[in-house]
Amino acid sequence: MLEALTSLIALQALDTSADAARRRIDDMPVAERALDAAVAAAKAVVDEAKTKVEANGAARRTLEKDVATIDGRMAKFEEHKAAVKTNQEFQALNHEIEVAQTTKSALEDQILALMDEADSFNSALKDAEGVLVDRRLASDADRAAMNVDRRALEAELAQLASQRSAATPAVPAEMLAKYGQIVKSRKGLAVAAMVAGHCTACHVRLRPHIEQQVRRNDSILPCDSCQRILYYVAPPAHNAPADPAPAAII
Ligand SMILES: [Zn+2]
Repeated sequence: MLEALTSLIALQALDTSADAARRRIDDMPVAERALDAAVAAAKAVVDEAKTKVEANGAARRTLEKDVATIDGRMAKFEEHKAAVKTNQEFQALNHEIEVAQTTKSALEDQILALMDEADSFNSALKDAEGVLVDRRLASDADRAAMNVDRRALEAELAQLASQRSAATPAVPAEMLAKYGQIVKSRKGLAVAAMVAGHCTACHVRLRPHIEQQVRRNDSILPCDSCQRILYYVAPPAHNAPADPAPAAII
Protein backbone atom coordinates (compact mmCIF):
# COMPACT_ATOMS: atom_id res chain seq x y z
CA MET A 1 0.00 0.00 0.00
CA LEU A 2 1.13 3.53 -0.77
CA GLU A 3 2.74 4.92 2.39
CA ALA A 4 0.75 8.17 2.22
CA LEU A 5 -2.48 6.16 1.97
CA THR A 6 -1.54 4.10 5.04
CA SER A 7 -0.80 7.35 6.90
CA LEU A 8 -4.13 8.87 5.85
CA ILE A 9 -6.02 5.77 7.00
CA ALA A 10 -4.22 5.98 10.37
CA LEU A 11 -4.96 9.71 10.60
CA GLN A 12 -8.63 9.10 9.86
CA ALA A 13 -8.83 6.41 12.55
CA LEU A 14 -7.34 8.83 15.10
CA ASP A 15 -9.65 11.68 14.06
CA THR A 16 -12.75 9.44 14.08
CA SER A 17 -11.89 8.24 17.60
CA ALA A 18 -11.28 11.84 18.73
CA ASP A 19 -14.62 12.96 17.20
CA ALA A 20 -16.46 10.18 19.03
CA ALA A 21 -14.77 11.12 22.34
CA ARG A 22 -15.55 14.82 21.83
CA ARG A 23 -19.19 14.06 21.00
CA ARG A 24 -19.54 12.06 24.20
CA ILE A 25 -18.05 14.95 26.21
CA ASP A 26 -20.29 17.45 24.38
CA ASP A 27 -23.38 15.39 25.20
CA MET A 28 -22.62 15.47 28.93
CA PRO A 29 -24.04 18.93 29.76
CA VAL A 30 -27.39 17.84 28.27
CA ALA A 31 -27.35 14.72 30.45
CA GLU A 32 -26.37 16.84 33.47
CA ARG A 33 -29.22 19.27 32.82
CA ALA A 34 -31.61 16.30 32.63
CA LEU A 35 -30.36 15.13 36.05
CA ASP A 36 -30.81 18.65 37.48
CA ALA A 37 -34.31 18.84 36.01
CA ALA A 38 -35.28 15.49 37.53
CA VAL A 39 -34.08 16.63 40.99
CA ALA A 40 -35.81 20.02 40.57
CA ALA A 41 -39.08 18.30 39.63
CA ALA A 42 -38.90 16.09 42.75
CA LYS A 43 -38.06 19.17 44.86
CA ALA A 44 -41.09 21.01 43.43
CA VAL A 45 -43.35 18.12 44.51
CA VAL A 46 -41.85 18.31 48.05
CA ASP A 47 -42.34 22.10 48.17
CA GLU A 48 -45.95 21.79 47.06
CA ALA A 49 -46.61 19.07 49.66
CA LYS A 50 -44.96 21.25 52.36
CA THR A 51 -47.12 24.23 51.39
CA LYS A 52 -50.24 22.08 51.83
CA VAL A 53 -49.08 20.81 55.25
CA GLU A 54 -48.29 24.36 56.39
CA ALA A 55 -51.58 25.80 55.12
CA ASN A 56 -53.45 22.99 56.84
CA GLY A 57 -51.61 23.65 60.14
CA ALA A 58 -52.27 27.39 59.91
CA ALA A 59 -55.99 26.82 59.23
CA ARG A 60 -56.20 24.44 62.19
CA ARG A 61 -54.46 26.87 64.55
CA THR A 62 -56.89 29.63 63.52
CA LEU A 63 -59.87 27.36 64.25
CA GLU A 64 -58.36 26.27 67.58
CA LYS A 65 -58.00 29.93 68.57
CA ASP A 66 -61.66 30.46 67.66
CA VAL A 67 -62.60 27.47 69.85
CA ALA A 68 -60.55 28.91 72.72
CA THR A 69 -62.36 32.25 72.34
CA ILE A 70 -65.73 30.47 72.48
CA ASP A 71 -64.59 28.48 75.53
CA GLY A 72 -63.74 31.77 77.22
CA ARG A 73 -67.15 33.18 76.37
CA MET A 74 -68.89 30.06 77.65
CA ALA A 75 -66.96 30.22 80.91
CA LYS A 76 -68.20 33.78 81.35
CA PHE A 77 -71.78 32.70 80.62
CA GLU A 78 -71.46 30.06 83.37
CA GLU A 79 -70.23 32.73 85.79
CA HIS A 80 -73.17 34.96 84.86
CA LYS A 81 -75.62 32.13 85.60
CA ALA A 82 -75.08 32.67 89.35
CA ALA A 83 -75.97 36.35 89.01
CA VAL A 84 -79.13 35.79 86.92
CA LYS A 85 -82.25 37.08 88.63
CA THR A 86 -85.11 36.44 86.18
CA ASN A 87 -86.28 33.49 84.14
CA GLN A 88 -86.06 35.62 80.99
CA GLU A 89 -82.42 36.43 81.68
CA PHE A 90 -81.79 32.74 82.40
CA GLN A 91 -83.35 31.68 79.06
CA ALA A 92 -81.41 34.37 77.15
CA LEU A 93 -78.19 33.16 78.74
CA ASN A 94 -79.01 29.50 77.93
CA HIS A 95 -79.68 30.54 74.33
CA GLU A 96 -76.27 32.24 74.16
CA ILE A 97 -74.66 29.09 75.56
CA GLU A 98 -76.47 26.92 72.99
CA VAL A 99 -75.38 29.15 70.12
CA ALA A 100 -71.80 29.08 71.40
CA GLN A 101 -71.87 25.29 71.74
CA THR A 102 -73.27 24.85 68.21
CA THR A 103 -70.60 27.14 66.82
CA LYS A 104 -67.89 25.33 68.80
CA SER A 105 -69.13 21.95 67.61
CA ALA A 106 -69.06 23.13 63.95
CA LEU A 107 -65.50 24.43 64.46
CA GLU A 108 -64.44 21.13 66.04
CA ASP A 109 -65.86 19.22 63.05
CA GLN A 110 -63.77 21.43 60.77
CA ILE A 111 -60.69 20.80 62.94
CA LEU A 112 -61.26 17.03 62.69
CA ALA A 113 -61.61 17.28 58.91
CA LEU A 114 -58.37 19.27 58.78
CA MET A 115 -56.64 16.64 60.94
CA ASP A 116 -57.73 13.89 58.52
CA GLU A 117 -56.47 16.00 55.65
CA ALA A 118 -53.19 16.61 57.54
CA ASP A 119 -52.61 12.84 57.75
CA SER A 120 -52.83 12.46 53.99
CA PHE A 121 -50.79 15.64 53.38
CA ASN A 122 -48.06 14.45 55.78
CA SER A 123 -47.98 11.05 54.15
CA ALA A 124 -47.73 12.66 50.67
CA LEU A 125 -44.90 14.89 51.96
CA LYS A 126 -43.03 11.88 53.37
CA ASP A 127 -43.36 10.05 50.04
CA ALA A 128 -42.23 13.11 48.07
CA GLU A 129 -39.21 13.56 50.39
CA GLY A 130 -38.31 9.89 49.84
CA VAL A 131 -38.48 10.33 46.07
CA LEU A 132 -36.30 13.47 46.33
CA VAL A 133 -33.66 11.66 48.41
CA ASP A 134 -33.59 8.76 45.91
CA ARG A 135 -33.39 11.11 42.96
CA ARG A 136 -30.57 13.14 44.52
CA LEU A 137 -28.61 9.97 45.25
CA ALA A 138 -29.16 8.68 41.70
CA SER A 139 -28.21 12.07 40.27
CA ASP A 140 -25.02 12.23 42.38
CA ALA A 141 -24.07 8.70 41.32
CA ASP A 142 -24.73 9.43 37.63
CA ARG A 143 -22.77 12.67 37.85
CA ALA A 144 -19.83 10.95 39.53
CA ALA A 145 -19.84 8.25 36.83
CA MET A 146 -20.05 10.96 34.18
CA ASN A 147 -17.03 12.76 35.70
CA VAL A 148 -15.04 9.53 35.63
CA ASP A 149 -16.03 9.07 31.96
CA ARG A 150 -15.16 12.69 31.19
CA ARG A 151 -11.67 12.36 32.68
CA ALA A 152 -11.12 9.10 30.76
CA LEU A 153 -12.28 10.71 27.51
CA GLU A 154 -10.08 13.77 28.10
CA ALA A 155 -7.10 11.48 28.68
CA GLU A 156 -8.00 9.57 25.51
CA LEU A 157 -8.23 12.85 23.56
CA ALA A 158 -4.82 13.94 24.83
CA GLN A 159 -3.35 10.61 23.78
CA LEU A 160 -5.04 10.77 20.35
CA ALA A 161 -3.74 14.32 19.87
CA SER A 162 -0.19 13.24 20.59
CA GLN A 163 -0.55 10.23 18.27
CA ARG A 164 -1.90 12.57 15.61
CA SER A 165 1.06 14.92 15.99
CA ALA A 166 3.34 11.94 15.54
CA ALA A 167 1.38 10.68 12.49
CA THR A 168 1.01 13.89 10.46
CA PRO A 169 4.64 14.34 9.37
CA ALA A 170 4.27 11.11 7.35
CA VAL A 171 1.55 12.70 5.20
CA PRO A 172 2.63 15.10 2.43
CA ALA A 173 1.49 18.66 3.22
CA GLU A 174 -0.67 18.93 0.10
CA MET A 175 -2.45 15.69 0.91
CA LEU A 176 -2.93 16.73 4.52
CA ALA A 177 -4.59 19.94 3.33
CA LYS A 178 -6.86 17.97 0.98
CA TYR A 179 -7.69 15.58 3.82
CA GLY A 180 -8.57 18.54 6.06
CA GLN A 181 -10.83 19.98 3.35
CA ILE A 182 -12.77 16.72 2.90
CA VAL A 183 -13.04 16.20 6.68
CA LYS A 184 -14.69 19.62 6.96
CA SER A 185 -17.13 19.12 4.10
CA ARG A 186 -17.90 15.43 4.72
CA LYS A 187 -18.89 15.14 8.39
CA GLY A 188 -15.40 14.30 9.61
CA LEU A 189 -14.84 11.35 7.27
CA ALA A 190 -12.28 11.87 4.51
CA VAL A 191 -11.00 8.34 3.99
CA ALA A 192 -13.30 5.41 3.21
CA ALA A 193 -12.84 1.77 2.40
CA MET A 194 -14.06 0.30 -0.87
CA VAL A 195 -15.96 -2.95 -0.40
CA ALA A 196 -17.35 -5.00 -3.30
CA GLY A 197 -16.79 -2.09 -5.67
CA HIS A 198 -18.76 0.34 -3.48
CA CYS A 199 -17.63 3.34 -1.45
CA THR A 200 -18.54 2.37 2.15
CA ALA A 201 -19.21 6.03 3.05
CA CYS A 202 -21.72 7.04 0.36
CA HIS A 203 -22.50 3.52 -0.99
CA VAL A 204 -22.12 4.57 -4.60
CA ARG A 205 -20.92 1.91 -7.02
CA LEU A 206 -17.58 2.94 -8.48
CA ARG A 207 -16.81 2.79 -12.16
CA PRO A 208 -14.97 -0.46 -13.00
CA HIS A 209 -11.70 1.20 -13.98
CA ILE A 210 -11.67 3.25 -10.76
CA GLU A 211 -12.40 0.09 -8.81
CA GLN A 212 -9.43 -1.60 -10.45
CA GLN A 213 -7.18 1.33 -9.58
CA VAL A 214 -8.38 1.50 -5.97
CA ARG A 215 -7.76 -2.23 -5.59
CA ARG A 216 -4.07 -1.60 -6.19
CA ASN A 217 -3.85 0.80 -3.20
CA ASP A 218 -0.92 2.52 -4.85
CA SER A 219 -2.44 5.96 -5.46
CA ILE A 220 -4.73 8.52 -3.84
CA LEU A 221 -8.10 8.22 -5.57
CA PRO A 222 -11.30 10.04 -4.69
CA CYS A 223 -14.76 8.44 -4.71
CA ASP A 224 -16.67 9.47 -7.85
CA SER A 225 -19.60 10.62 -5.78
CA CYS A 226 -18.46 11.88 -2.35
CA GLN A 227 -14.83 12.70 -3.19
CA ARG A 228 -13.55 10.81 -0.15
CA ILE A 229 -10.17 9.15 -0.50
CA LEU A 230 -10.66 5.46 -1.16
CA TYR A 231 -8.65 2.40 -0.15
CA TYR A 232 -9.17 -1.28 -0.60
CA VAL A 233 -9.23 -4.02 1.99
CA ALA A 234 -9.10 -7.55 0.62
CA PRO A 235 -11.94 -9.75 1.94
CA PRO A 236 -10.99 -12.59 4.31
CA ALA A 237 -9.76 -15.68 2.44
CA HIS A 238 -12.39 -18.04 3.89
CA ASN A 239 -16.10 -17.64 3.23
CA ALA A 240 -16.96 -16.07 6.54
CA PRO A 241 -20.08 -13.90 6.36
CA ALA A 242 -19.12 -10.27 5.86
CA ASP A 243 -19.98 -7.66 8.45
CA PRO A 244 -23.12 -5.74 7.55
CA ALA A 245 -22.29 -2.59 5.61
CA PRO A 246 -22.44 0.58 7.75
CA ALA A 247 -25.11 3.17 7.02
CA ALA A 248 -24.22 5.65 4.29
CA ILE A 249 -22.50 8.85 5.48
CA ILE A 250 -23.17 11.42 2.79
ZN1 LIG B 1 -18.27 7.86 -1.75
